[in-house]
Amino acid sequence: MRLILLGPPGAGKGTQSKVLSEKFHIPHISTGDMLREAIKGNSPVGLAAQEYMNRGELVPDDVVIELIRDRLSKKNSEDGFILDGFPRTKKQAEMLDSVLHTMKRGIDMVVYFNTSTDVIIRRLSGRRICRSCGTNYHVKNIPPKVQGICDACSGTLYQREDDKEGTIKNRLEVYERQTSPLIDYYEEKGKLRTISGDLELEEAYKSFLKLFTEENLL
Ligand code: AMP
Repeated sequence: MRLILLGPPGAGKGTQSKVLSEKFHIPHISTGDMLREAIKGNSPVGLAAQEYMNRGELVPDDVVIELIRDRLSKKNSEDGFILDGFPRTKKQAEMLDSVLHTMKRGIDMVVYFNTSTDVIIRRLSGRRICRSCGTNYHVKNIPPKVQGICDACSGTLYQREDDKEGTIKNRLEVYERQTSPLIDYYEEKGKLRTISGDLELEEAYKSFLKLFTEENLL
């Protein structure tokens, strides 16, 4: 199964990708996670990306395109993948089409998370992440047992720089301007399906199962 999850930051794409990846044994490919790893490792890609990410801007297309080209050529994405946070511009979408075409592969479905702005802001501003194992929490919806400490590994929780209030607004503007045109792009190709991004994890998962059944992907 080859899926693209499309939607604004805070729509639940990452959380849902993790569940789908475990249940269906397909890799979850998140350019945001790859870039954060690159920053942690002080690699040239990380150095090039950090400033853009902290401001809530998109990292230049060429940088992410190279990351994805490499990742899709790995053996474990041969049988399927879930793309989360890529593509984010028309240029990235066109490049993805061309890479997949060369590999004689295609996308089965693009799932758009239609999400209200107040839900996005609530989710992003309350999100906390474990520095050690990457588990996500939310100060109200999914609080850890001990404030600031990860239930899974006792690591310290932190707030992403780009989840701070001033940057969230910019990320949403960037999404509207640069990423939302992809809704029409995939609609025109007949690939787009829509679920509500306002749903919590379990309900959103059920929407996916329904789509998979309708599209004969199970
Ligand atoms: P995410 O974890 O998907 O919210 O991404 C965090 C940040 O990483 C974004 O705000 C961008 O700065 C950068 N980023 C992630 N994916 C892409 C992409 N496909 N194109 C450009 N920048 C990206």
